[in-house]
Amino acid sequence: MTDVADAERLIAARIPTTGTTIRDLDDAVGAVLRQAIRAERDQPPFDRVTMDGIAIDFSDWENGIREFEVAGTQAAGDAALDFHGAGRCIEIMTGAMLPAGANCIIPVERTSRSNDSIRVDGDAVVEKLQFIHPRGSDRLAGSELLAPGIRLGPPEVAVLASAGCAEIEVSPLPRVAVISTGDELVDVDEPIADHQIRSSNDRAIEASLKQHRVATVTRSRLRDERDVMLSAIRELHEQNDVLILSGGVSMGQYDFVPSVLEELGVELVFHRIEQRPGRPMWFGMSSDDKAVFALPGNPVSTMVCLQRYVLPALKQMLGLESDVAEIVRLSADVEFTADLAYFLPVVVTWTDDGNGIAEPRPTNTSGDFVSLAGTDGFVELPRGTDLYTAGTPARLFRW
Ligand code: AMP
Ligand code: MG
Repeated sequence: MTDVADAERLIAARIPTTGTTIRDLDDAVGAVLRQAIRAERDQPPFDRVTMDGIAIDFSDWENGIREFEVAGTQAAGDAALDFHGAGRCIEIMTGAMLPAGANCIIPVERTSRSNDSIRVDGDAVVEKLQFIHPRGSDRLAGSELLAPGIRLGPPEVAVLASAGCAEIEVSPLPRVAVISTGDELVDVDEPIADHQIRSSNDRAIEASLKQHRVATVTRSRLRDERDVMLSAIRELHEQNDVLILSGGVSMGQYDFVPSVLEELGVELVFHRIEQRPGRPMWFGMSSDDKAVFALPGNPVSTMVCLQRYVLPALKQMLGLESDVAEIVRLSADVEFTADLAYFLPVVVTWTDDGNGIAEPRPTNTSGDFVSLAGTDGFVELPRGTDLYTAGTPARLFRW
């Protein structure tokens, strides 16, 4: 059997990165950037005034001048006025370009005007270069502002706009078919008999993929009939980049998924992982580089395997930088005697000094998905011990 780290490595070694597509800046938020973005101009592009007030030559101030003749008014968006110092000033607005020859801004609050001259308060503190955001002090023209592989949020969209990027290269979302299998399943709005259950895994998988913005999703539900599965999965495989199945991968007489996938030419990479829950997980690749994840149907297993293996694989397809591990500490002792890695649902709280504390919320069984509601995710407790004492650090995987 494969252990958790091997499973992760085997998947990462096989997952291809998508090509790229061009996206309008209007639709860029949430996309994964696939090109380096360089500064169009120095940032800021000119010496930018940061206060409403007057622009002066600081040597006038040093020479004791406190009253200045107004030589002009310059707003944001005006070209720089020609400025001749010696007792003169320019009335200036925030965002304006520093007038040539000026090197000091005195805020309007420290001045009073009479006719064409402006007096500065006697007790005003005035320093050379004050209230000026110097050209190029944030970034120089041509320097890299954004690296490929980042998820574009509001600050990055602002940077793209500032760099004149109306269109950018991003990752297209992989097309993922979510396929639930099982004769017992009925959909949310269908009549239901005593021996049936409502299908929830497909909804949870779709919700996760949407929440993490890693795929476009279609859902299908298949009965446990081998030839029906064969033709339906063949078609879905042709139409999609990735398949995620739930159910039918264990040892039951109707667990046809592995044999169907192999008959469709999907090469088995591993089947079963030394973990609980989610031990029966199956992963394979087809010769056209499409990944197939067949997850056990028990809903807690499905969610844990999706989170631990499928989401990172989809992020890798998108060319996203890998997530930084988030480490939290157990709030209480946890006993787990099976020689398997243990994925334990938790609620995370934060101490005043910034430590994440994971409160165990074990489910009754891997079928008890109702107990997952309200949890933040799960921690991974590696094999090799029976007792994880309170305070043990563990990696958190958020839903
Ligand atoms: P299986 O892996 O097919 O043996 O399924 C194991 C358990 O998970 C069974 O009790 C199923 O009813 C349940 N299960 C399978 N698929 C789903 C689904 N789509 N939604 C909710 N429960 C499911
Ligand atoms: Mg089943």
